[in-house]
Amino acid sequence: MSKQQAPVEKNEFIDVVFEDLTHEGAGVAKVEGFPLFVAQALPGEKAKVKVTKVQKGYGFGRLVEIYEASPDRVAPPCPVYHLCGGCSLQHVSYEGQLKAKEKHVRDVLARIGKLPDVPVHPVIGMKDPWKYRNKAQVPVGEREGGLIAGFYQKRSHDIINMDRCIIQKEKNDEVIQTVKEICNEYGIQAYNEQKHKGTLRHIMARVGHATGEVMVVLVTRTKDLPNRKQIVREIADKIDGVKSIVQNINEKRTNVILGDETLVLWGREVIYDTIGKIKFAISAKSFYQVNPEQTEVLYGKALEYAGLTGEETVIDAYCGIGTISLFLAQKAKKVYGVEIVPEAIEDAKANAELNGLQEKTEFAVGKAEEVIPAWYEEGIRADVLCVDPPRKGCDPALLETIIKMKPKKVVYVSCDPATLARDLRILEDGGYKTLEVQPVDMFPQTGHVECCSLLVRNDK
Ligand code: SAH
Repeated sequence: MSKQQAPVEKNEFIDVVFEDLTHEGAGVAKVEGFPLFVAQALPGEKAKVKVTKVQKGYGFGRLVEIYEASPDRVAPPCPVYHLCGGCSLQHVSYEGQLKAKEKHVRDVLARIGKLPDVPVHPVIGMKDPWKYRNKAQVPVGEREGGLIAGFYQKRSHDIINMDRCIIQKEKNDEVIQTVKEICNEYGIQAYNEQKHKGTLRHIMARVGHATGEVMVVLVTRTKDLPNRKQIVREIADKIDGVKSIVQNINEKRTNVILGDETLVLWGREVIYDTIGKIKFAISAKSFYQVNPEQTEVLYGKALEYAGLTGEETVIDAYCGIGTISLFLAQKAKKVYGVEIVPEAIEDAKANAELNGLQEKTEFAVGKAEEVIPAWYEEGIRADVLCVDPPRKGCDPALLETIIKMKPKKVVYVSCDPATLARDLRILEDGGYKTLEVQPVDMFPQTGHVECCSLLVRNDK
């Protein structure tokens, strides 16, 4: 097979103009139609680039000199921005980030969904797009005998020590620092990934935005945690607001952070938080949105799109701990939620009771693409069907059932515009019309964008 000739060569220096921005924050320039991806470059910028890698159909480069900078370019405020893999858009003004995300949604809907005319609203951003994350989970390592905790350097597992992450709630930084110091004082060894030895793997902190309640999770390789009693006592004494200290045991050689077993060391197994009027119990392993302010905006949009009057039957697919289900249950006759993780469904049921909504809700464990077809066979019909799938989008079997069930409205909450566009196309071909798409910025300073979309049946 003959290799298509690329118009650039590795190590070549070339002047380019950037046209686009990927959702990972790389600038895209075309050289005779051949796309070059360059980290940190912005649309409209003229720059000298060194070609670093050439592949079939596209290549990569590194910025050498910017001749004309974009008006959206700003100095990234985080001192470790270029080392850490967490954020990808700190070099873009917040206004510029929102513009880029809106364009990305539009482009993908047009290209993948063949939906160039669907109204896409401007992205709803945050007033203060910093200090928003309610959960921190940091790997622990050792340097000169002392514990360090921070983040993995980009594309590696080298841990960089860090005192402050500016997209985290300050409380989480305080918790991580304090726990690190206490564990250090009591001689806890950090987990060593290569040797699969040592004790402390990760420290996780989660704070309830509305309640201020704090959970500390010590993720360890072994069940044994030397000086456990003293460590727990000190954490409880030193951290204001702490309501739960747990140990999660992860004995495996794996990149997955949490293991199967969780022990309560002090206080409760859960912390509480509220979104709008709904109260949630959150355990160490529960999926809970990381940006609470914007979650309220997103769920508020889902509720608005559902347009409930109190008479409707609703299905919430991929319901997690029942967050959207309970939000919708406030205004619906009945909500059925389905989710694949059994513990999440336990939480969902408990959360329904916590809010006095157990009569109006029913939760099932299983795959949405299996449970909802079974409900359909039993004769259950939803007036409104809400989906909030993971990045890979909805399973085709679920979309097929939606098309058969014919709910009047489908509310599609998505964290990946590409799979959203793919699924909207299928629903459109099955008799739905996408009325509008509202992107919400749940993850400022990163390339991610969440969308809430409203579809209605096209039947005349
Ligand atoms: N709506 C919730 C959770 C959304 S995240 C919230 O906003 O908090 C997506 C959820 O889908 C996760 O909880 C994940 O466990 C679940 N999930 C993944 N694949 C699934 C499947 N095939 N069927 C049902 N749930 C699934």
